Amino acid sequence: MLNIVLFGPPGAGKGTQAQKLTQRYRLVHLSTGDILRSEVSAGTPLGTEAQKMMDAGVLVPDAIVVKMISNNLDARKDANGFVFDGFPRTVAQAKALDMLMNGKGHPVSMMLALEVSEEELCKRIRQRGKDSGRSDDTEESVVRKRISEYNNKTAPLKEYYSAQKKFHAVNGIGDIEDIFNSLCEKIDRFREK
Ligand code: AMP
Repeated sequence: MLNIVLFGPPGAGKGTQAQKLTQRYRLVHLSTGDILRSEVSAGTPLGTEAQKMMDAGVLVPDAIVVKMISNNLDARKDANGFVFDGFPRTVAQAKALDMLMNGKGHPVSMMLALEVSEEELCKRIRQRGKDSGRSDDTEESVVRKRISEYNNKTAPLKEYYSAQKKFHAVNGIGDIEDIFNSLCEKIDRFREK
């Protein structure tokens, strides 16, 4: 099984690359942001609760997203592997994911990080806000909050996966296909081992 954690700040291009990786390697794409947004549109109690936090640009509690991931893993027992997009976002989530995956005998294979400068991120997020109307992308203060949540709570995951020798970084600026090829190279090298 190939289980990839896609890592990077908001606007790094995780969603775009996750979709391409999913197709190339026939994996299942699990995006906690997408799952939360579908709960919001469906008007579920979880969606109503999560919306407030998403609108404020803060992370939703670990227990909620871990449960969501666990349910989705169980629903896709047929999968060849998973691309985790926007999850884990805290060390507690990473530990929970390790417990879940190790327990199934299919550990996380690698973390692939998309590295993008903060200036470029803000530019991209503003553009995405115009294109998609995502409210947390249009409000400047919310974008800043999301980046600060990332720097404080998510960035330490680099150390977490480095300690397991699973951290791999690629330059996330440039042509989408070039970035995709760099990610594929890392994956193919891992699979040859
Ligand atoms: P995203 O689409 O990944 O940028 O996520 C949008 C929002 O959903 C974030 O700003 C958080 O409020 C929430 N969210 C998504 N994934 C997670 C996660 N793994 N942990 C906590 N909050 C999350």
